[in-house]
Amino acid sequence: MSAHPDTRTEAADVRRFWEGLGLPGLVDVHTHFMPERVLRKVWAYFDALGPLTGGVEWPITYRSEEDERAALLRAFGVRAFTAMLYPHKPGMARWLNGWAADFARRTPDCLHTATLFPEPGAVDHVREAVEAGARVFKAHVQVGAYDPADEALDAVWGLLAEAGVPVVIHCGSGPAPGKHTGPEPVARVLARHPRLRLVVAHLGMPEYEDFLDLAERYGEVRLDTTMAFTDFSERLAPFPRRALPRLAALGDRILLGSDFPNIPYPYLHQLNALERLGLGAEWLRGVCHDNAVRLFGLPGPAPRGTDLPPTERH
Ligand SMILES: [Zn+2]
Repeated sequence: MSAHPDTRTEAADVRRFWEGLGLPGLVDVHTHFMPERVLRKVWAYFDALGPLTGGVEWPITYRSEEDERAALLRAFGVRAFTAMLYPHKPGMARWLNGWAADFARRTPDCLHTATLFPEPGAVDHVREAVEAGARVFKAHVQVGAYDPADEALDAVWGLLAEAGVPVVIHCGSGPAPGKHTGPEPVARVLARHPRLRLVVAHLGMPEYEDFLDLAERYGEVRLDTTMAFTDFSERLAPFPRRALPRLAALGDRILLGSDFPNIPYPYLHQLNALERLGLGAEWLRGVCHDNAVRLFGLPGPAPRGTDLPPTERH
């Protein structure tokens, strides 16, 4: 482990966090695993302060071998995670999906992840991935530089809505805007596919409130916490305090995401950043574990309350 001083201590601290909430572990819907040479390129991009970093210094904390990174998530007690990967040009999605299917096979605690791109054959690639068992997709509007409401994706969204497969979508304009980022293109997609299970990455940073609007309007829209509320993001795009009650009210549709391993701070900081919002233990239990267990139908302990004898249920 290069950049991080003491992962063993950190793992103990992370476990103390979820044990203190009475959880059996964490579910992290936004972690990155991808073919090694693609990941190296992503790291080089962060090192060179590529446009997606918004020109901000971005030292990657967990720069290690793939098996070490997966082992570290297990040491943290992350029961299920994802392999977020995304193409930046046509002709890549199918190949990435093949890699991700294989990764999921050799990594049983990783939810089989797939991706998509507006290109000829897109709907066939997506159908193929769903039939192969993909349980979550990643779409990256900023890196892919496409309009999510592009006609070439209409059948793709229809298929995913029908199949009920969640799509984690980086569509906010943070840390740097893209031609098609922001709430408006996503609103057009949802107007056509109101039951699509979009998981707005990074809580829609910096357009937090616009994406909260969409989540309030569409019951299948969720948001992931990736990098939100951390010192790093609060400096760049502070979450508006006035929106905290809305975040509390949407507590059953907010999902823990971290961006591990590509984060410029220790993993524990994301958890502490959620805790210091002051929304309480029940909110944290939903966000850090129970909401994702429900969404993905993960096996494990029954949600709190249902293990009581029937007479004691309220
Ligand atoms: Zn990410």
